[in-house]
Amino acid sequence: MPYQNILVAVDLGATTETVIERAAALARDNKAALHVLHVIEPLAITYGGDIPMDFSAIQEEIHSQAKQQLDRLCSGLGVDEANRHLVTGRPESEIPSQAKAINGDLIVVGTHARWGLALLLGSTTDGVMHSAECDVLAVKVDAPATEDGSA
Ligand code: AMP
Repeated sequence: MPYQNILVAVDLGATTETVIERAAALARDNKAALHVLHVIEPLAITYGGDIPMDFSAIQEEIHSQAKQQLDRLCSGLGVDEANRHLVTGRPESEIPSQAKAINGDLIVVGTHARWGLALLLGSTTDGVMHSAECDVLAVKVDAPATEDGSA
């Protein structure tokens, strides 16, 4: 049975195009609706409650930059405005709950090789796989190497 509502989650990083193009191709092949989601992680969560600062101006700037990037990506693929989703929270919980909200039957995320501490901590994709109520496709992406040769 073909998929009808595909949700692709993008972190707006270097591997986003690979992930979104795979999802767009699947949407075309299945004649499915394509929804694109980016989750903004609140600075208060990222840095804990340790820093007594008002992050609201920075947060607004991050939101506006993310919206521009999301719009640029989605316009290029012809994704309707109604199918572009920008929410704030933790990606591993927001991705499954957004999939549920749009009646999604497939979530597309990226995944790359992990080792060391990253392996122990787990990835967004691991978290999504555990709580999603629909199929999840983890697209292998090559993490760009950093200057010291690590991924
Ligand atoms: P990571 O665990 O950071 O390597 O991310 C793996 C995949 O999870 C990414 O390729 C995206 O598909 C998804 N993802 C991670 N962070 C976000 C985010 N902030 N918003 C949407 N999707 C995300």
